[in-house]
Formats: sequence, C-alpha cells, structure tokens
Amino acid sequence: MPDAMPPTDLHSLDRAHVFHPSTHMRQHAAGETPNRIITGGKGVYIWDDTGKKTLDAFAGLYCVNVGYGRQEIADAIHKQASELAYYHTYVGHGNEPVIRLSQRIIEKAPQGLCRIYYGMSGSDANETQIKLVWYYNNILGRPEKKKIISRWRGYHGSGVMTGSLTGLEAFHKAFDLPRAPILHTTAPYQYWNGTPGESSRDFAKRCAADLDALIQREGPETVAAFIGEPVLGTGGIVPPPEGYWDEIQKVLRKHDVLLIADEVVTAFGRTGQYFGSDTYGITPDLMTIAKGVSSGYLPLSGVIVSEKVWQVLEDGSDQMGPIGHGWTYSAHPVCAAAANANLDIVDGEDLTGNARDTGAYLQQRLHETFDGHPLVGEVRGVGLMAALEFVADREKKQRFDPAQKVGPRVSAACLANGMMARAMPHGDILGFAPPLVITRDEVDTVVATAKTAVDQVAAELARE
Ligand code: PMP
Repeated sequence: MPDAMPPTDLHSLDRAHVFHPSTHMRQHAAGETPNRIITGGKGVYIWDDTGKKTLDAFAGLYCVNVGYGRQEIADAIHKQASELAYYHTYVGHGNEPVIRLSQRIIEKAPQGLCRIYYGMSGSDANETQIKLVWYYNNILGRPEKKKIISRWRGYHGSGVMTGSLTGLEAFHKAFDLPRAPILHTTAPYQYWNGTPGESSRDFAKRCAADLDALIQREGPETVAAFIGEPVLGTGGIVPPPEGYWDEIQKVLRKHDVLLIADEVVTAFGRTGQYFGSDTYGITPDLMTIAKGVSSGYLPLSGVIVSEKVWQVLEDGSDQMGPIGHGWTYSAHPVCAAAANANLDIVDGEDLTGNARDTGAYLQQRLHETFDGHPLVGEVRGVGLMAALEFVADREKKQRFDPAQKVGPRVSAACLANGMMARAMPHGDILGFAPPLVITRDEVDTVVATAKTAVDQVAAELARE
C-alpha cells in the first residue's frame, strides 16, 4: 500500500496546521465543528469558499466599520507600501501618515487628550496603559499606587496583564489569571446584578458604592487606575445604567485614581457619537483605541494620553531617560495610511450619524420583534451595537443550563439562514455590531433573520 497522500485541500490543511484562537482544538482538528474559509467581502456581506453569501452583522469582530471591499483603503495601503513600507518611530523618527492621523484623532477626541502612542492590537495598547500608569506613579514618587481596577464582564485583551483585566472566566481559567495587582468590581449589568424594583440610577449608585468600598478597603494610596469600556462589549453588549459614568467618575476623582476608557469597540462612531466617552460624558485620563480606527484593514491601536498624564511623563523624562517601552511596529506607516483612508470614509459618509439613525432603527426593530418573546429576557443596545439575552424563564429570570448551548445554537441558526450574529462568549447572548454602513433594508434583514433563528431554536427547545 502506498503511503496516504498528505491532504492538499484548504479545509484539511487548515485543520492540520492552523492553531485558531477561541476554538475547541480537538473538535476542529477532528473535523467535528464547521471550518469556514472566508474568501471575500463587499459592504456588509462576506463570501466563503463554497460561494455562500452571509450578512456579517458583527463586522468581523466589531471592527469592519466601513464595510468590506473599500477600494479607497486598498489603494492607500498600496500607495504607502510603495513609497515607504516601514520605518520605526523610535528616538523621534516620524512618518507623515501617522502625524496626520494623530492630529485628526486628537482634534475630535474628548477634552484634554493630546498625544497617541501606537500599537497593533487592543491588547498591546492596554498593556501600554498598565505600564504608563505604573510609570506615572513611579515618577510621582508613589511606588505603592499600582493596583488597577477593572469590572467583572469587562474585556480588555488576552495578554497576561490584559487577560487579567478582562473579567471573564473563560479568559482566566487554566492560565493562572488574574495576576496581581489587578482587581475586579461589580459589572454594571442590571439585568443580572440589579435587585427587584431597583431603578437604573440606584443601580448605578450601587455600582459606584461598590467601587468606592473596594478602593477604601484596598487603600486609595495603592489604587492607580480604573479601566472600563463605555459599553460592556464582549461581556454581553450591555449599555451602562443611567448616570453610571457620572457616579464612577466622582469616586475616581475623590481617590485620585486615573480613568482609562477602553474604546476599542466604541471609538469612531459605533455608539452614535464619535467616541463612547462623548455618549456617556466620560472625561478619560487615558483612552484605548483600535478596531474602528482602521476598520481592520490593517492592525492598528493606540493609547491616547491626556495633558494631565502627559505633563507628568514629560516632567519626569529627565529623571527617567528615554521611555523603555516600544514596539517594532508602533506607528506603522502603512497601517496609519489605511487608518487615514478609513477615517476619510467614516467622516465623509457620516457613519457616526448613520450609527445614530440606523442604530436607533435597529434598536426599535429589535424591541418590536423580541420584547415579550418567550426566549428573550432582555433586548438592549445603543447605536449600532445590540444584544438579545436568552433565558429559560422570563418571569423567574432563570438561565438556561449552559449545556443546552442556547446562545451558540441561535447564532448557528442565524448562520444557516445567511447571517453572522455572534454568540457572546459568556452566557446565552446574541450580539449584533454590524458595519456602520448598514442600511435600514439590511437592518430589516438582520432582524427578520434573527427572528427566524430564535423561533427555530425555541421550537427545538420545546421538543426537547
Ligand atoms: N478592549 C476591548 C474593549 C475589546 O473589545 C478588545 C477585543 N475585542 C480588546 C480590548 C482587545 O483587542 P485585540 O483583540 O485587538 O487585542
């Protein structure tokens, strides 16, 4: 018998050689779970290698804000790569695309933000945040002020420290995380954490009181920063309760704790304003951006620093010398060129306005369709991000047994009906975060497909 020929088709090669993130390794290798090879995209649609067309109602991983197949960005990448594909930005080297990009972002950023440190991913940008906060307190002669408080259900990355900031068990389990000095406080997730009859404002106050108590317990002189997404993202797409950010900022100011707004998902229009901080009245000391800055056409992230933080860093630099923190690809000129072309589209087509208007339509249609649906405990969202929370019993607010995999099943039913909507990784939640170019007609398709999928799973559950 001749030896079996090694596989040559893409699916077998993928299962044999590619180590996928967030994937069940054995099932993937064994071919027990679907393996989709994506070959193209246009607008809100993607195609796979079988020719199947899918409406991507999650914009990749909430990043392809300008939609797929934008020739303007491809051209800008080609032009910049032809002129200068790479040079580093260490020891004061610059390049025009990144200078122009920085200026335009700062012009629109919340008050007081003044300079951008670039990276390639949301995770590395949040690693930079942690290091800058420590550096800042070292310069100020407060070496004990180092703890960073995040929220349960927050998502801030997958590194050792950023995975620690992330408040989801799946990202801690078996990685020996979270590491000190990271702490977690109450998630502003009223559906599960609120008490019966509690108003949204009272719940917000309680979240802030929990944060205050944690800081008092730890000792304010040991707490350096608080990090939060304006809207909880991967933790379930949960807009904050009314007044939450005002209450949280009061506590932070009281204890001289820096505020890091993680706007990896919310920046550049998604909530209906340019930044999530604008939507919720947040004045961050530090802001993290990624995803929507380049719509994923090339990887790019940034840490935006406020005057308050910058002044300390600048004043401390004679004492500290050049900052010992750098990435080879920081401020990469081709990524910055892609980002400029991307933001030309975001601004030129007023995608922030579309997120507000078509976003309001999405929220309205979801409420009309799913409020009162026996499987749906809550419909929630803001701008062009939304979620359906599935529960076994709406009256008693009872979860499904996780083994029933209700969220993933609804997501799979959406896919079978031609739409990608994401089963959020913790709980039975279906998430929507479509490209910001989505139209009302496409929203109608999203909601109708979701309805078909939810009804299919409801019927299956009734039979089980
Ligand atoms: N912060 C937030 C709010 C995110 O949603 C994500 C990614 N989903 C990250 C950080 C990490 O970004 P990346 O995956 O690019 O490292």
